[in-house]
Amino acid sequence: MHLPSSRRGFLRTLAAMAAFIHAPRKSFAARSSAPNSARTLTGFGQTGNPYLELGVKPVINAQGTMTMLGGSLVPPEVEAVMGQAARHFVSLPELERAAGKRIAEMLKLPSGYSALVTSGAAGAIQSGLAGILTGDNESLIKQLPDLTGMKSEVIIQKSHRNPFDHQLRGTGVKLIEIETCEQLERAVSDRTAMMHFTNFANSLGQIKVEEWPKLARRHNLPCMIDAAADTPPVSHLWDYAHMGYDLITFSGGKAIRAPQCAGLLIGREDLVRFALLNNSPYEDTLGRGQKVGKEEIVGMIKALELYLNQDHDALNEEWQQRLETISREIQKIPGVSTSFFTPDIANHVPHMRIIWDGRIPLTARQVSETLRTGDPAIAVGAGEGLPGLAINSFMLEPGEDRIIAEELKKVLGNRSSA
Ligand SMILES: *Cc1c(COP(=O)(O)O)cnc(C)c1O
Repeated sequence: MHLPSSRRGFLRTLAAMAAFIHAPRKSFAARSSAPNSARTLTGFGQTGNPYLELGVKPVINAQGTMTMLGGSLVPPEVEAVMGQAARHFVSLPELERAAGKRIAEMLKLPSGYSALVTSGAAGAIQSGLAGILTGDNESLIKQLPDLTGMKSEVIIQKSHRNPFDHQLRGTGVKLIEIETCEQLERAVSDRTAMMHFTNFANSLGQIKVEEWPKLARRHNLPCMIDAAADTPPVSHLWDYAHMGYDLITFSGGKAIRAPQCAGLLIGREDLVRFALLNNSPYEDTLGRGQKVGKEEIVGMIKALELYLNQDHDALNEEWQQRLETISREIQKIPGVSTSFFTPDIANHVPHMRIIWDGRIPLTARQVSETLRTGDPAIAVGAGEGLPGLAINSFMLEPGEDRIIAEELKKVLGNRSSA
């Protein structure tokens, strides 16, 4: 068997749940006790909450799409097609190619562009670069990360360095840091494989997102953009291809609400083909550890279909309303105030900052710890340079905004000396 048994169980649960996708959505409390699927299971999973059965407490997520917390929650329709996918064997390379073609059509990518479902944006970064380095040369593919006979450098702006460039370095390349256009000119050599851009760092670097692919073109170099968390807006799914980026990476397990272990490599057909050759299911490849299952591949397509058909304005309004529900309640506590903001890029969704004055003698860290270890456990953002807490609501399930308001009132209200 290729799938570990826990995974098979999970997929069986998915298959069972598929029959119930039209059931109305339940509140968090109702879901965590006994959803409909529990009726069909005995043993592990029979309570409807496998996490609680393992003694692992589920978390209400007001922090955002954190891989550490499970990415995002897939819509029931995505669960349903994943269950369908789990019932058949198929050729994985054939499925990947067909999925890429479908995704390119769905996103109306420029001609000559395709897509690959990867294990995530991180997997897309590594396989995308590996493909640039090896092309379709089988012995080079087997040789990575030994770069003998291949190009060996990737140019990146100093301010764009981030933990996910580990996936670039994983291919064996050296990152060449530059800051100015002049330094870029000097850094380009016959060792240069690619120019990499980190989208969330756009405002930090001297060379901006539209300029980078133009410079790459001038030097006849491929360029990649890591846009993992950069939907919404939905148009970002095709904007960077039209801007001239050769490879573009997105996470599935973020706002797109695809399976957590899915992502997208969008790009030039040849480079996407080379990336697949460096990835699972092919053995003796650098990317063999970044396995993508048939379930994730079809789940990614379904998630994209749903995401493209969303009323994004309405969704945004709903997210804002949830925050305002929380705001109204907690502002009743003397000393507490709230404000709203939306990051320009990456997690471009409504956020709320919660601050309090000296009447509440608690640090942001203390409040977030209390919420995180409480019952129910709630994850919020804290201690990120600015005072107070930062929360968002796009990963909340119905009713959880009220739960958060109640718990915040308990934690902040109890300590108020007013
Ligand atoms: C989340 C993230 C990644 C990794 O994405 P996965 O889909 O979890 O592999 C890479 N880069 C950035 C900027 C991210 O935010």
